[in-house]
Amino acid sequence: MGGSLGCRACASTGDGAVTHENVVTYTQFLSAELIEGIVYGGADAGADPRWAESGAVSREEYATWCGHCCGMACLQMVLHHRDGRTPPLLELMRGCRSYGGYVERPDGEIKGLYYAPFAEYVGERHGLVAEVRPELTVAEIAGLLGAGRLVMASVHREIRRPERAAPGRGGHLVLITGCDGETISFRNPSGHSASSRAAVLPQATFAAFFAGRGISLALS
Ligand SMILES: [Zn+2]
Repeated sequence: MGGSLGCRACASTGDGAVTHENVVTYTQFLSAELIEGIVYGGADAGADPRWAESGAVSREEYATWCGHCCGMACLQMVLHHRDGRTPPLLELMRGCRSYGGYVERPDGEIKGLYYAPFAEYVGERHGLVAEVRPELTVAEIAGLLGAGRLVMASVHREIRRPERAAPGRGGHLVLITGCDGETISFRNPSGHSASSRAAVLPQATFAAFFAGRGISLALS
């Protein structure tokens, strides 16, 4: 294989199971081992010693944006899966923001990710064919994966602790990488443990956290 890895190596096994192999996990907080403290212990995300790897121009910029960048970490995973490399997290954020995918209000509140401008951004800047799916079922996700796509799905952030009851649906993006008749596999940019960052859950468990919307991405 040459420099362009593509995604053609990822294949259906023919029994309904589909998986994208060897997807590298990218996290929205650069030091994955700090995530538990950040999301459950009140630790300052801006204290991450690896902040500059995000492409941020300052620690302050990193601290402001990393909590909003689940979708950008998903995009990093998609680009790396296709190309074997990816731009840094906040470089993607700035590009996406220039399309209106993120909006910073005068009071500093950050809104987004907005799916339609994100889809336009990744199409024009990264050659990905993105389709916004405001209504999406787990069965449809399986079909999209079977057609060679990757899917960003909106789930409740507490999907990292699936043994607990879901407090709600949606608000956080994960990247679906595989499914079979019973389970769904995904990468979680804010997973606080190895098994929550590269997760495999029963589909019914996933569905309890899933908002029923997402974005499908065709890699080639
Ligand atoms: Zn693949």
